[in-house]
Amino acid sequence: MNRHQQIKKPKGLCLTDRCTKHARKSRNYCHCCAARKFAISNPICYAFNNLKQNAKRRGHDFSLTLEQFRNWHLIDAYMEGKGKTSTSMSIDRRDNDQGYHIDNIQLLTLAGNTRKRYVPYYQENPY
Ligand SMILES: [Zn+2]
Repeated sequence: MNRHQQIKKPKGLCLTDRCTKHARKSRNYCHCCAARKFAISNPICYAFNNLKQNAKRRGHDFSLTLEQFRNWHLIDAYMEGKGKTSTSMSIDRRDNDQGYHIDNIQLLTLAGNTRKRYVPYYQENPY
């Protein structure tokens, strides 16, 4: 017996424990719970969509495809290290004037990314 059968919820309600929202017709979970489940089962796709939405919000170009993102050589390190602390990994645009393109992204800690904002890029990367 699975947990969905233990507690019989009224029709139309989300099946998640303690969730009281309504699920759309012919769906078992509300939008919130469905999104949460999606994030857990497709972490890379979830991270990609976040990146894309944030880029759009901040008005940056975005030419990355999900396929490129999945096959990016640093994707494992990013997925492993992303977070909210200063040593967490973030995706940085090498050239701030350009958007998120496969040849313009690199892995950088959040602290490093912030530092870049104050130290002009050419001083840290003299050619
Ligand atoms: Zn729910």
